[in-house]
Amino acid sequence: MKTIESLGDLRGKRVLVRSDFNVPLDGDRITDDGRIRAALPTLKHLVDAGAKVIVMAHLGRPKGEVKPEFSLAPVAKRLGELLDAPVKLAKDVVGESAKETVASLQDGEVALLENIRFDPRETSKDDAEREALAKELAELADAYVSDGFGVVHRKQASVYDIAKLLPSAAGYLVFKEIDSLSKVTGDPERPYAVVLGGSKVSDKLGVIANLLTKADMLLIGGGMAYTFLAAKGYGVGKSLLEEDQIPTVKGYLEEAEKNGVEIVLPVDVIAADRFAADATAIVVDADAIPEDQMGLDIGPKSQELFSQKILSAKTVAWNGPMGVFEFDAFAGGTRAVARALSEGNAFSVVGGGDSAAAVRQLGFDEETFSHISTGGGASLELLEGKTLPGIAVLED
Ligand code: ADP
Ligand code: MG
Repeated sequence: MKTIESLGDLRGKRVLVRSDFNVPLDGDRITDDGRIRAALPTLKHLVDAGAKVIVMAHLGRPKGEVKPEFSLAPVAKRLGELLDAPVKLAKDVVGESAKETVASLQDGEVALLENIRFDPRETSKDDAEREALAKELAELADAYVSDGFGVVHRKQASVYDIAKLLPSAAGYLVFKEIDSLSKVTGDPERPYAVVLGGSKVSDKLGVIANLLTKADMLLIGGGMAYTFLAAKGYGVGKSLLEEDQIPTVKGYLEEAEKNGVEIVLPVDVIAADRFAADATAIVVDADAIPEDQMGLDIGPKSQELFSQKILSAKTVAWNGPMGVFEFDAFAGGTRAVARALSEGNAFSVVGGGDSAAAVRQLGFDEETFSHISTGGGASLELLEGKTLPGIAVLED
């Protein structure tokens, strides 16, 4: 993959950067600026190199229409504070305002184009439409840097098509993500354990199928565990269950056995009679979940079991919380897994938006993990063994 250094001297050059600024907003207040901070190494490097920096990003789902509530104005303001220099926000994506804004840039200054998804061509399935937008974007710049890891699995104009039109390179964030994730998807040091959780099996079927030939251990918690328990013939009460996935999951259990992959399921669960923060939590064995209860976390014996498996591994990938960590009473499983990853010596990668949020919310030091991915979908597709369009295009 080409790095920024391969672009040569950038002084006075107009460099178009795709970043991921899809931050959570409360009105026009940014509630978590993690994604903006993650973009700073690349942007600061370009500023210091004397480039004219033009950033493109999306926010929310404006679906190809100009919707003021999805304006990048709050992002431009926050980015300016973090860079300690004003960021000029264009009023459009590739229109008159974008052209004027870019033309007014001095060396080392930063501009932000308005929400790239205000233009319907950005996400069009029609190659020609995307290419037409990419061409207009390319006219604004001399080089392209891809740094929005959260979107590199998307074949979109600002991610994929643009890279074919300008000298292109991966930014530092994308480089670090691919470097870390390829250590677990390529040739991981063994034993290699993968911990999967989150709400639904159907979200992660591709990952499970791929891992059945790659991992040594597959630890399953979270909502998806109940479909596995049901596939083993246990009653799961009112727990999250995807009945239509039971045959697929049975197939996975058989394949795992054949391949010598150890599937570790919860042996006990913390259950409640309703989905609420103040519900009464009880501990029950995984094969004895009462009919009127739902499993909302893995139980204490499972927490111990999962921790030991994680501590015995040399490489660990984790995607998806073990329980409803948003409620204190059901955060113990997620906390135990995070602690084992954080305290163990394995190369540890955390993927998934909610898992990364859980690590922060539960107060773990992010530095004690080898890598916490900023891209949920992109990291999942890498774990699935897929080639990502926005990465492949940087390799040509
Ligand atoms: P990630 O974003 O890390 O990939 P997911 O989006 O797949 O994770 O799942 C996260 C959600 O799964 C969390 O909001 C959590 O509350 C929910 N969850 C975990 N365990 C359970 C459970 N047993 N029942 C219902 N929801 C669960
Ligand atoms: Mg999620």
